Amino acid sequence: MIKIIQGDITTLAVDAIVNAANQAMLGGGGVDGAIHRAAGRELFEACLKTPEVRPGVRCPTGEARITPGFKLPAKFVIHTVGPVYRDGQYGEPEKLAACYRNSLALAAENGCKSIAFPCISTGVYGYPIEDAAKIAVREVSTFLESHPDVEVIFCCFSERDKRVYESLVR
Ligand code: ADP
Repeated sequence: MIKIIQGDITTLAVDAIVNAANQAMLGGGGVDGAIHRAAGRELFEACLKTPEVRPGVRCPTGEARITPGFKLPAKFVIHTVGPVYRDGQYGEPEKLAACYRNSLALAAENGCKSIAFPCISTGVYGYPIEDAAKIAVREVSTFLESHPDVEVIFCCFSERDKRVYESLVR
């Protein structure tokens, strides 16, 4: 089932919230900063322990990593790195789709039945919300066909983003 809400993802008591992280996984602005502040220092320590795949990169764009949620009401944080949007001709749609697919696969492997996503890449990374939401809804819908017992929540920060998702999910 898909649910669309407006709110702060750090307040959700779900099995996993997804973080729009960066490749270093050591925190940043936007939703990433909010999640690190709410989860506490232990989240930073857990991220630091995530092995680097190359210097400074713990999670390449399109991939996902999992940590506990520590002080958050959510059990897990799934960190994924969305693409920085240029003009859509640099593989951004495929990389954004991979974020959703890999996050959902990791959630399923860890037995998560409720997973909340922010609007990945649509903040500082500049992905147009309409295009990003279409990809998000498509990938989540495909996943739910094979995982009908899972609830996916699109947690929009703005009313406008929420309306975009609502126009895509009936
Ligand atoms: P990115 O770098 O992937 O673009 P941002 O954090 O800049 O990530 O933005 C991603 C989305 O997260 C934006 O829609 C932004 O408004 C939203 N956002 C920021 N803080 C929160 C929060 N506490 N809960 C849910 N969404 C948030």
